[in-house]
Amino acid sequence: MAQLEVVRGDITRLAVDAIVKAANSSLLGGGGVDGAIHRAAGKELLRACEKLGGCPTGLAKATPGFNLPAKWVFHAVGPVWNGGTHNEPDLLAGCYRCCMELARTHKAKSMAFPAISTGIYHFPRQQAGEIAVRTVHEHLQASGLDRVIFCCFDKPTTQFYEEILALGN
Ligand code: ADP
Repeated sequence: MAQLEVVRGDITRLAVDAIVKAANSSLLGGGGVDGAIHRAAGKELLRACEKLGGCPTGLAKATPGFNLPAKWVFHAVGPVWNGGTHNEPDLLAGCYRCCMELARTHKAKSMAFPAISTGIYHFPRQQAGEIAVRTVHEHLQASGLDRVIFCCFDKPTTQFYEEILALGN
């Protein structure tokens, strides 16, 4: 049975097969978790991203992790929250689904997600957490993953995830 965990901390430090980065559609770096991952992975990550030619919202693309403990980075482009009437929930679910598929194709056994879109993109945290956990559950078996970590940076997000996972068990 695959394990779903909540960890509070910095995703760049996690020694898992893949970490997910909340990116913008240019994939050329930004603030928040994106900037932290680029700083920790080194300049080669930006060079690899330049070759990807961007990524549409709701999807994700893979690169190596370079100087990170993680072997892979999956660059997921979450939606900007725009009132909730612009397909934001489906686009966010698409990011999680696409990363689960990338885990399968890259044979990752462990993967960590940040709370995509809940920072600069302002997706409501609780709703985003529910979408994240539900979508990961739906694709867990097909992904081949043994371990999925929801890496939360702040206390309220950590508590939401703990509550959502406790309800599902
Ligand atoms: P977005 O543009 O998708 O909203 P952000 O990077 O602004 O992306 O925020 C996404 C989430 O990542 C937020 O909950 C933020 O607190 C969190 N975050 C920021 N830095 C880190 C980090 N180093 N590790 C894990 N999570 C982080």
